[in-house]
Amino acid sequence: MQHNFTTIQQYSTGRKETTVVLSFSFQEHELFIGLYDGKALPKSSIFYSTRIFSSNIKNSIGKKETEEYFIKHACLSRNTYRMIEQDDFDINTSLHTIVRGEDEAAMVESVGLALVKLPDVLNRLKPDVMIVHGDRFDALAVATSAALMNIRILHIEGGEVSGTIDDSIRHAITKLAHYHVCCTRSAELHLIAMCEDHKRILLAGCPSYDLLLNAKTKDYQSILQTWLGDDVKPKEYIVALQHPVTTNIKHSVKMFELTLNALITFEKRTLILFPNIDAGSKEMVRAMRKQGIEQNPNFRAVKHIPFEQFIQLVAYAGLMIGNSSCGVREAGAFGTPVINLGTRQTGRETGENVLHVRDADCQNKILHALQLQFAKQYPCSKIYGDGNAVPRILKFLKSIDINEPLQKNFCFPPVKECISQDIDHILETQSALAVDLGGTNLRVAIISMQGDLIKKYIQPNPETFNERIALIRKMCVDAATESVNLNCRILGVGISTGGRVNPAEGIVLHSTKLIQEWISVDLRTPISDALHLPVWVDNDGNCAALAEKKYGHGKGVENFVTVITGTGIGGGIIHNSELIHGSMFCAAELGHIIVSLDGPECMCGARGCIEAYASGMGLQREAKKLHDEDLLMVEGMSIKNEEAVSAVHLIQAAKLGNTKAQNVLRTAGTALGIGIVNILHTVNPSLVILSGVLASTFESMVKDVIAQRALSSTQNVEVLVSDLLEPALLGAASMALDYATRRTY
Ligand SMILES: [Zn+2]
Repeated sequence: MQHNFTTIQQYSTGRKETTVVLSFSFQEHELFIGLYDGKALPKSSIFYSTRIFSSNIKNSIGKKETEEYFIKHACLSRNTYRMIEQDDFDINTSLHTIVRGEDEAAMVESVGLALVKLPDVLNRLKPDVMIVHGDRFDALAVATSAALMNIRILHIEGGEVSGTIDDSIRHAITKLAHYHVCCTRSAELHLIAMCEDHKRILLAGCPSYDLLLNAKTKDYQSILQTWLGDDVKPKEYIVALQHPVTTNIKHSVKMFELTLNALITFEKRTLILFPNIDAGSKEMVRAMRKQGIEQNPNFRAVKHIPFEQFIQLVAYAGLMIGNSSCGVREAGAFGTPVINLGTRQTGRETGENVLHVRDADCQNKILHALQLQFAKQYPCSKIYGDGNAVPRILKFLKSIDINEPLQKNFCFPPVKECISQDIDHILETQSALAVDLGGTNLRVAIISMQGDLIKKYIQPNPETFNERIALIRKMCVDAATESVNLNCRILGVGISTGGRVNPAEGIVLHSTKLIQEWISVDLRTPISDALHLPVWVDNDGNCAALAEKKYGHGKGVENFVTVITGTGIGGGIIHNSELIHGSMFCAAELGHIIVSLDGPECMCGARGCIEAYASGMGLQREAKKLHDEDLLMVEGMSIKNEEAVSAVHLIQAAKLGNTKAQNVLRTAGTALGIGIVNILHTVNPSLVILSGVLASTFESMVKDVIAQRALSSTQNVEVLVSDLLEPALLGAASMALDYATRRTY
C-alpha cells in the first residue's frame, strides 16, 4: 500500500507564538509534514519513518501521562495516515511530491518537486521549529526549504554512518539543522567532529527503541500464521529484506540474485519483502520473478507489512537477512540473528547478533553464513537506546529558545596552518630560470628553491647583440616549457652578466671587453615579454655574493665579501645583509683595486689592478712570457702544439718546482692578498669567500698577507673557499626566488 501524499497539519505548543512542524518520510516514500495548530488539540502526534518513531509534542510539555498514552498507541497503529487521523490531527493539506519512476533521475525530480511546493506551505504555516528525521532524499528537500526560509530545524538521527548516498544526505541535513538529536555515542562524536555546536546536540537514544524494547507480544502466533502459514513456528523461519544500493545498482542486483539462490538452497520458510522503490528495484523484482520465488512453496513474497506486525515477525524470526537498516538496528533489540549483506550498512554500529558478509560475491559464502546464524539467540542489544529517547527529545524541544538568534555557529577546531591543495604544492617545485652570460658561453638553468640545479642548457655566446638576445629568449622559453615536465614551477628569471648593471631597471650599462655589443641593453623587457615572468638582472660578481648568501658560506652572515678569481676578478659585497651597488652601480669592482703604482697593464686601462696580477688572464700573460723565454717547461710537463699556454700550465710548473713560476704565483697571491686587505680596511667584513677556479691556489697566500699586513682589528676575518659549483647561476636564481613574491622590481 502506497500513499504518495504529503500531509500537513497544524499544531501549537500552547504558546500561541510557537509552532512546531514535524516531517517524516516513509519506506514507501511518503513525505509527511505534520504541523499542528492550537485549535485542534491532538492527543498525540506521531513521527513515522523508515523506522517507527513517535512523539507527543503538545501534551508532553507538561503532561507526562499523554506521552505514555502516545507511545503505547504508536505501536498499535495500523497505518500512518489513519493513525494521524485517530490522533485528531487536522489534515488540511496534502502534497504530491513523489515522481514516479525507479531511477536516480526520479529521486532528483522528487526532491525538486518538493522544493517547488514546500515554500508555499511553509509560508502559510510559519513554523518556529521544523523537525526533520533521518536521511531520505525527501527529508533533504524539507531541510533545505526550512533552512533557506530561516526556520529552525531539529534533525533526528544525525551523525550516523551507513555507507550509501544516505550518508551524504544525512550529513547535508546535519549542516542545515540547528538542533540535533542522535541515537548513539559515536553519532554524537561524529556530530561534534562535523563542527556542530555540542550544546545543541542531544544524545537521546533511538526513539524506535522506546517501543522496540517492549514490543514482543504474546499473541504473535496469529501474526506469524497470517504471513507465513498455519504451521510456522518461532525461530524456524527467515525474514529477507534487501534494497538496491543506489550508488552501485548493478552490483546490488547481482548480490540479490546470489542471496535468492542461497535461500532457495537453504530450504527454510522465508518471508521476503519486495525492495523499496529506490533506483534499481525494478531489476531486483525481475530477479525474483526469474527465480520463481512467488511460486516456490518455501517463500512468501509480500510488498508491504504494517510495521508493528513486521516487528513481531523480526522478533520471532530464526534469522533476518538482507541489507536493511532494520536488520542491523531494530533486530538487535530482540537478539534476532542477522546476516548483513554488502556495504549498504557499512559503518553502522551493530550488536553481536549481526554477521557481516560485506563481499557477498558467491552463493556459498551466503549459504555458509545462513548455516552459522540460523536459529541462534543473542542477548538483546542496547546500542541504540535504553527506551527513554522520546521523553528526552520532548524535554530538549521544550528547551529550545525561539528568541535566540537563528544564525548557526560552526565550532571549527583549531587547524594547523596549511595550504589548500594546489597544483603548485602537490606536484611542482618552486624554481627559477637562471641565465649566466659569460665571455664564452651562454648558460640557462632551472634551479629549485632548495638550490638544486634541475637542468642546465649551454650554448656559445653569440657575438652580436641581436643573435644574443634571440638566443637568450629561445633558451629561456624552451627551458620554461620543459620545466612543466620536470615538475618545476618557474617563479621568475634571474640573469647574471659580466659588466655594470642597473638592477633596478634591468639594464646592462656597460660590459667588459669579453662580451661584445653589450652596452645600454634593456635585458628585462624582452625576456619578461617572452615568458610573462618577472626578470631580475645583476652583475656576475654580485650574483656570486647572492649565491653565497642564500646557499653558501654567507648564509646568515650580515657582512661578507666574495672575491671571484677566474678569467678576470670580480666580487660582491654584502653589507648589513644587502648587496652594495653604489651610486653608479660600480661598487664591488674588486678586480680593479689598484695595489701598485705601476705594475702590469689591466683590461680596464689602468695599471697595477689585482685583476692584472691574479686573474686567469694575468697569469696567462706571465706564463706566455716565461714560455717565450723557454723558462716555463720543466720535467714532467708537456704542451701540445695547438694548445694555448695558460694559467693551468703556470700552476703545474710551480707545483713541479719551477721557481720562476712559483715567483709569479707568489706575486699574484700577494697582490690579491693586499687587495683583500684594502677591502677589509674599507668595509670590515667578518668573512671573505674566495670563489672561482683559482680560489684554492691563492687561499693560503691571502691568509698570510692578511696576517702580515691587515690592521689588527680586522684580523679576526674568516677566509673560506666557496663550495658552490655554480655561484653565478645560483645567485641569478636567488634573485628570482627571493624576490618573486615582491611584485615590484
Ligand atoms: Zn683594472
